Order: sequence, then C-alpha cells, then structure tokens
Amino acid sequence: MSSRNWMCGRDGAHPSSSAHFMSTNNTDPQRMERIVSLCKRRGFIFQSGEIYGGLNGCWDYGPLGAELKRNLKDYWWRVMVRERDDVVGMDGSILTHPAVLKASGHVDTFSDPMVDCLLTKQRFRADQIPPQSGTVYQFIGALPLNALFDLDLSGPTPEFWKTWLSPTLLTSVSDLIESLRRGLNEQNAIPADDDSLMRAAEHLQAAVVRLDFAVLAPDGKPIESARKVAAQFYESRGIKNPVLYEDRSRHRKVENSTCFNPENGAELTAPRSFNLMLRTNLGAAADESSLAYLRPETAQSIFVQFKNVLDTSRKKLPFGIAQIGKAFRNEINPRNFIFRSREFEQMELEYFFNPGQQPWQELLEYWKEQRLTFYEDIGIPRAKLHTLTVPDADRAFYSKGTYDIEYDFPFGRQELEGVAYRTDYDLRKHAEASRKRLDYFDETMKMEHLLHEGKEFYPHVIEPSAGVDRTVLALLCEAFDEETVTDEKGKSETRIVLRFHPRIAPIKVGVFPLLKNKPELVAKAREVQELLKRHMMVFYDESGAIGRRYRRQDEAGTPFGLTIDFETLGERGDELRDTVTLRHRDSMKQERVAIAELLAKLLPQVQ
Ligand code: ATP
Repeated sequence: MSSRNWMCGRDGAHPSSSAHFMSTNNTDPQRMERIVSLCKRRGFIFQSGEIYGGLNGCWDYGPLGAELKRNLKDYWWRVMVRERDDVVGMDGSILTHPAVLKASGHVDTFSDPMVDCLLTKQRFRADQIPPQSGTVYQFIGALPLNALFDLDLSGPTPEFWKTWLSPTLLTSVSDLIESLRRGLNEQNAIPADDDSLMRAAEHLQAAVVRLDFAVLAPDGKPIESARKVAAQFYESRGIKNPVLYEDRSRHRKVENSTCFNPENGAELTAPRSFNLMLRTNLGAAADESSLAYLRPETAQSIFVQFKNVLDTSRKKLPFGIAQIGKAFRNEINPRNFIFRSREFEQMELEYFFNPGQQPWQELLEYWKEQRLTFYEDIGIPRAKLHTLTVPDADRAFYSKGTYDIEYDFPFGRQELEGVAYRTDYDLRKHAEASRKRLDYFDETMKMEHLLHEGKEFYPHVIEPSAGVDRTVLALLCEAFDEETVTDEKGKSETRIVLRFHPRIAPIKVGVFPLLKNKPELVAKAREVQELLKRHMMVFYDESGAIGRRYRRQDEAGTPFGLTIDFETLGERGDELRDTVTLRHRDSMKQERVAIAELLAKLLPQVQ
C-alpha cells in the first residue's frame, strides 16, 4: 500500500486532489472507448455478471485476457523470484483472520473519505474530486408551483402564472409579492387589493419548503445552469414545478473548491470515512465471532508468515518474500474500466533488510529502477512511465518514503505501482499483537553478541507493490494502434493492431493452412501446430481468406503468423519444401523459414 489515503491523521483536506486534477489533463476518452470495445469484441475482458446487468467493479477475463494476464504474472514471477537467489515465493489465503488486520491497522484506519452528490446520490472519493472555481449559488428552498395557483387572487388566470413565472426569481417571499404586484400591473390583470396580497404572502410563506442547497457554476457558465440543477434537486425532493428561493447574500466566488459534483455542480455532503474492507462470515454462525475479511492486500500474509518462511527457507537478510494473488477493496467509485475495481490482483514483494547495514534510500532506489526496467521489458517505454515522490501528506502513515510509478493512460497519468519503505512497522505490530517472536537474529554478529546485547531486531521492508489488472490495462493501452493500410487491390482500410511485446502477447503464433479443403495443407499445418504448442500459445485458423486471418490475429496482438502453402508441400520445387511463410505483425513483412528452424527462431523472442 503506497499512496492510499488512510484516514489516520487526516484533517479533512484532500492533499492528493490537485495531483489527481493534474493527472486528468491530456486525456483521450475516445481512444479509451475504442480499447474497451475491442476488449469485449475480441474476448479480453467482459463485465462480470453482464447478462444480469453487471456487477459494479468486477470484471471477467476472456480467453485472450486470461492468457495476457497469465503471461504478465509469469514474467513477474520469473524475474522477481526464479531468477533471483534472494527472493522466495509464497501463496497465502485470501480469507484473513480479523486479528491480522486489526494489528496491521486496517480495521481502524483503512478508509477513504466518501462524499455523496445531494442531487444524483452518486458517491465519490472526496480526495479525488478535482478542485473547481466559479460562483456558488445558494438556494434556501422552493415553492411548489401549485401554491401559486392556490392563491386567493381573483384576477390572474393560469396563463398569467405561466408567463409571469418563467422570468421570476424568488429571493424572498416579499420579493415575490412585489414582483407579483408588478406582474399584475404590467399584464393588466385585475390587480389584487393589498389585503389579498398580504394573505397571498402568508400563504406563500407557509408553502416554501426550506431546504438548503448550493450549486457551483464554473467560471463562464450562466446562473441559469445553476438554477436548472437546483430545480432538479427540489423536484427530486418532491416539490413539483419548484419556484426557486435564492439567498443572494450567500452567492459567492470560490477557488479550488472540492465541495461540488464535478459533473453537474451540485453540492456534496461532508466527507465521511468509509472502511474499504470486505467482510464475510466463516461457518454457520453469522455473527462477530465468525467474522473474516477478504484481504485488502497480499502483503499481510507475508508479514504474518515471516518467521515460518525464514526458518524453512534458511534465507539470510537481505531477502524477499513475493506473492501474487487476489485482493479486495470495497472501492467507493470503481472506474476507468479495470483500473480501479473491487476485486483485483496484486504482485507484491516484501524485501527485508537490516537498516544498520543498508541505507533504505539506496534499496528504495534500487527497487524503483528494477521495477522500471520490468515495465520496459514488457513493452512499456520509459517515456510513458513517471516516478512520483509521494509527498509526506499523501503517504501511508507507516511509510518513510514512497515512489509511485505512474503511466500515461488515455484517462490521465495514474499509478501502476507503489514502491514503499514500510520500515519495521508491520513485523513489530504483529509481534506485539500476537506475542510471538518475529524478530531476526543476525548470526554473523554472534561474536559481537557476546560483548553486546540486542542483536535481535525487526527487519525493515521495501515493498514494490504492483497491480496485475492495472498493468494489463497499461499493456492494452500501449499496444492499441489503428493505421490505414492499402491492400493489393489499392483499397485502403483501417488496420487495428495490438502491438504487444511477444513476451506477453496472449497468442504467440497463428498457424494457417492456405486452403482448408486441401488435406495435405491441413495435415502439414497441424504438424507445425503440434511442434510449437508445447512451447508457446498457438492458434490454428483455417477459415476465410488469408488476409482476413492475418487481420484477426493483428487485433488479438499475435506477433507471428505462419502460412503453410503449396511451396511447403514441395509443389514448386524441393528448395522450398518444408518451409513456411513467417509474417510479422508490426511490419507485415514476410519471410520464408524452414519448419525445422521455427522453434529456434521464435522461442527466444517470446520468452
Ligand atoms: P490508489 O491510490 O490508486 O487507490 P493505492 O495507493 O491505494 O492505490 P496500493 O495500496 O499501493 O494502492 O496497492 C498497490 C497496487 O495495487 C496499486 O499500485 C495498484 O496497482 C493496485 N491496486 C490498488 N487498488 C486497486 C484497485 N482498486 N483496483 C485495481 N488495482 C488496484
């Protein structure tokens, strides 16, 4: 956990909102829409429970998405665990003992400030409201139009009320009366006498429904836009055809306010804290004694199992424990496709070290660089990655230093991963709460230990914590491309292509017999498929024109296509027998390659 704004110590101000606001510049919503639609069309990602209307904040990965995700996790595990001597893996349970999350601080403080729109009831994270400037229009209530019709005035007809009301602005009931008098005069309606106007005033006074509401009209927007929103608000509270009652003395200019719905300007409620953990009950009793949580991060099982892993793996500091797995957060506002969901996966490493031997700043830099290299190695260019030094006010309370690695998504620059120095906070807290030893004894200091006491200590931790789903989204955004190409007949068309790095591409190779009704071609193509499929994901496709089959694989991001044709069968001479056409997705270039050489040529590129 890096920059999540734990409520602990917060004063209601929203330190990260300006950062969020900055990050919404440079956006391309249309591009994002096209990516989402391709994901559905090609079977990368579907909304969970779609046929029942969808489950908000939950997503299902289809055949291509599942492969993509698996390739990403496999590569992370390979470079973070298998290729290192100083990291071991573990796989903890999702259901978590409440005591674990009590000790870690999650039960008491893992909350987000939540606000609701008074008009639409939409719920927002208060710290994600972009600051807005403009004029706030204050309303203190409204009159149902019928109250005017009910007035005991003899002259005015319903037509009069309609024409009179449209430009009418209520600022007070006496204003209303005055305006009414003017209106009656102007329209030559039979003027009511003073008595009946007084009675009308009393009637109206009683009919005003008092309910404070404010609307922010951003600079440049007319007051009418605010009145429209206010009218909707009062209507939503049961006041039919509301005549607004404004309090001009409280209209005001504001700068960088986060108290209004950015979509419609309506007033928001005051922030309340909302714990993000999902609860469940184990066994038959559905009470507090059976309470368990779905873990909000994978990290805690690593801390809780620290001693077991240490004793069984016989590692010495510095060393890390890595884990990939599901995490759950009851996000107030899941959004931006799979970027922020309620069920997601994390790839986390807790790297334990002795701060007396290694300065944390050095290790934090080291892991930041390792992680940036990782993203480059899966096809995300360094130019699109940014490291943000998380300001003191935004950092989780236990962290002394945190970097966020951010990516330029089509919806703005946003966090992919946090790299945080978590100090010895977690081990210390779990040791205190469980009364079990989670400290470390440095054997190399044994001799010294005879002289000095206190060589046991709690290791400190650097934590690179990445989101699988966010990285999948970054990979999709980075890979998505549309280009205009001209076919052999001179016709131009748009080619949609996902330019995935071959290492993470869901399908590595498409295998195509030129014609599906030539058994020799089909048999040879099946042979090629057999040869490759134990080493990489192969897709066999024999339907449609070869150009169409290439296009389908371009959209799936398949980097290589192999076509088995009559040359392969030796029908155009022995020289080309048992060779295939290898077509490259990005350049669309083709070359002739011997089947016997395919593995050696393709394998290093897809690993
Ligand atoms: P944010 O500020 O965006 O809510 P965070 O700082 O709280 O994220 P961490 O607790 O640091 O996130 O979690 C580590 C990583 O887990 C994040 O960098 C992100 O990639 C991923 N992650 C966290 N929350 C979600 C979520 N709701 N949906 C998808 N991925 C998430």
